[in-house]
Amino acid sequence: MPELPEVETILRDVQRYIAGAEVAGAEVLDERIAGHPGSEVFLKRLTGRSITEAWRRGKHLVLGLDSGDSLVLQLKIGGQLLLVPPVEMPTTDLMLRLDLEDGRKVVLRDETSYTRAQVFTAQELEERFANLGPEPFDKAFTVDYLPESIGKRRAQIKPLLLDQRTVAGVGNIYVDEALFEAGINPRRKASSLLRAEWERLHRAIVSNLEAGIEHRGTTFSLYRDLLGRKGTHQDHLKVFLRTGKECPGCGGVVVKMTVGGRATFVCETCQPEEGEKDTGSEGAEQLELL
Ligand SMILES: [Zn+2]
Repeated sequence: MPELPEVETILRDVQRYIAGAEVAGAEVLDERIAGHPGSEVFLKRLTGRSITEAWRRGKHLVLGLDSGDSLVLQLKIGGQLLLVPPVEMPTTDLMLRLDLEDGRKVVLRDETSYTRAQVFTAQELEERFANLGPEPFDKAFTVDYLPESIGKRRAQIKPLLLDQRTVAGVGNIYVDEALFEAGINPRRKASSLLRAEWERLHRAIVSNLEAGIEHRGTTFSLYRDLLGRKGTHQDHLKVFLRTGKECPGCGGVVVKMTVGGRATFVCETCQPEEGEKDTGSEGAEQLELL
């Protein structure tokens, strides 16, 4: 499931290997990919255009075209963006093929079929991204941002962090890892988090995403970079998909639960459901009793 680190890894490959290339031709191989307004309009706006730049917003990969339009890719669950060659032309689950002017091809392949590709004008793009929260590496994502934006919410912290309106690019793997590192149970109400916990959470979100990029993403089965290579961050995960394995924090056991409808991995010792006691006030009360 490509999250920020996986999309960032693909982005850096795109910048390195295909930025500046011209899309001489294109073919939609699965009508579901283009969505509204349909593949005919989509192909018309794409064909003959050069890719002038590439960037990322949350989990979206954006290829800027010389027309001023942008090709926006969402790899969703199992999307793969592959450059042929060096990758051998895949034979199954192809959704879109771009024929570059220099003979290479860029293919979007997805056995889950959820990948989407759309061409937007600058204004459409702005509207599309208007509701996304800040980028985790942007200066707007300060240590105060999360408590200020969701700190009064009584909803559980994990679904709030997965909401792309809160912070862009965080998904199921990295949120579980960040909550573990911060010692916060994913079922805790956001309004119950203490200042020190928000600080740890902020630090953990940034550091886990950075580590994911450093390891070129997490590959359990489907994720590949532009050249078809797997990531290695799966070897560094502490709780995600580690049900029954030893918690690296306390030696206890990692358990699986469902939070907000999503598979969730926690150490209930390191991430207690009742959270930390607010020692500020309770400590004072105890002193009075003494
Ligand atoms: Zn533990």
